[in-house]
Amino acid sequence: QPTILWLRQDLRLHDQPALVAAAHEGAVIPVYILDDAAAGSWAIGGAQRWWLHHSLTALDEALQAKHSRLILRRGDTAATLASLMQETGATRIHAIRHYEPWWREAETALGDALELHDGNHLARLEDVTTGAGTPFKVFSSFWRAIQAHLPPPEPLPVPHTIAAPAHWPASDTLTDWDLLPTAPDWSQGFATDWTPGEADALAKAHDWHRDVAAYDRRRNLPSEEGTSRLSPHLHHGEVSPRTVYHALRKPAEAAAFLRELAWRDFTSGVLLALPRYGDTNGRPKYDALPWRKGAGAKADLKAWQQGRTGYPIVDAGMRQLWTSGWMHNRVRMITASFLVKHLLIDWREGERWFWDCLVDADYGNNAVNWQWIAGTGVDANMFGRIMAPLSQSEKFDAADYIREWVPELKDLPAAAIHDPDDHGVRPAAYPAKIIGHREARERALAAAATLR
Ligand code: FAD
Repeated sequence: QPTILWLRQDLRLHDQPALVAAAHEGAVIPVYILDDAAAGSWAIGGAQRWWLHHSLTALDEALQAKHSRLILRRGDTAATLASLMQETGATRIHAIRHYEPWWREAETALGDALELHDGNHLARLEDVTTGAGTPFKVFSSFWRAIQAHLPPPEPLPVPHTIAAPAHWPASDTLTDWDLLPTAPDWSQGFATDWTPGEADALAKAHDWHRDVAAYDRRRNLPSEEGTSRLSPHLHHGEVSPRTVYHALRKPAEAAAFLRELAWRDFTSGVLLALPRYGDTNGRPKYDALPWRKGAGAKADLKAWQQGRTGYPIVDAGMRQLWTSGWMHNRVRMITASFLVKHLLIDWREGERWFWDCLVDADYGNNAVNWQWIAGTGVDANMFGRIMAPLSQSEKFDAADYIREWVPELKDLPAAAIHDPDDHGVRPAAYPAKIIGHREARERALAAAATLR
């Protein structure tokens, strides 16, 4: 009897405990199911569909090199797996554990046939809890607690052989799934920056030890390539965090980086406690916040999405996002804060836009970071803390970053590029600020004051 290997955001052969367990039992049927209905409004976004197409292609090639293959099916996850079991005579399914609420529902529906393995996080999150046994809601406490679980176990090697079943079940083809954008094809910039698949993910993870010591100094500078750019690979599980950890060689010198890597674990822990965190304010008090909603807000949202707010750092970030499917973390913070505080638009609008545009869009990471910036979340940040985009841009020396992504401003000197309006050098092709900083700040604080 073959065993089913159910693949989700774990599209790899290295350090794949579910694969190791399945291969140990005999013939393996690796399957990926596209189930847009299960996730509801959190079905995979546009940029990620591009990534998924290429990542699944790469995974199938890696499996074929081991005389195996990837079976593709579309439909309700639990029903599809049940029918695959019937077709193939398989009685067991191995999979890696995930924390998105729709995955947990599908896992429950599969009952005893499913065996879950830990492997997509640094630690088993059910074990990193408060004294009362509940998940942490504040990162600093989580970070202290996870130390007891580090280092994570050494990564597992790829099984020597992955035995094929006597008969392969039918499979869709990727072209049936239409994951790649057509008319217009907005994904052209993606291929310049990214190569989806395990090979590139592993190469990046193994090269990263060279730069990690400078991470703490460089990570906030958008003009430099000071971060690992592992996020889409980690989200799709093309490399495991354990592999990333052990590839560092000297983890003690990489504390600042490991702290950020642990944020991934933290956000999954938040989902354990609050599975609907992507849709619901962590603090219900904010349900009454008077977000702007009319035609003016719609026009402002569009200007933000298109990178035409008149704030160069915000516009650079939003254009980087659209073109490359990724945005520098410091700039994610600035653009998110700008939408929520300066434009007084509900954080969920921004979260949705990021979901559709990011190649690393991740339900937990996206929701927790948006709520943290908005100040609506369960952690300690406050709505009244308003980032000043223009001084952030200067402080983190974003001039070259702006020149790269906002070509209208490329000839401006560093002193004027952060705020061309104020210096009287705004080119006609570049929009004026859609709102002044002081006015925006007062409006946001007045809105927050209505909650008291
Ligand atoms: P590095 O700095 O090299 O960090 C290494 C890894 O640690 C990242 O790949 C990521 O997996 C993890 N990590 C780092 N910072 C964070 C963080 N703050 N929260 C959670 N994990 C982190 N990250 C996503 O992966 N998906 C998202 O959908 C996402 N949405 C975000 C939305 C907003 C508003 C903000 C402010 C941040 C968001 N982040 C998200 C977190 C962070 O911006 C990205 O993980 C990071 O920029 C990815 O680049 P990197 O791989 O070079 O990161």
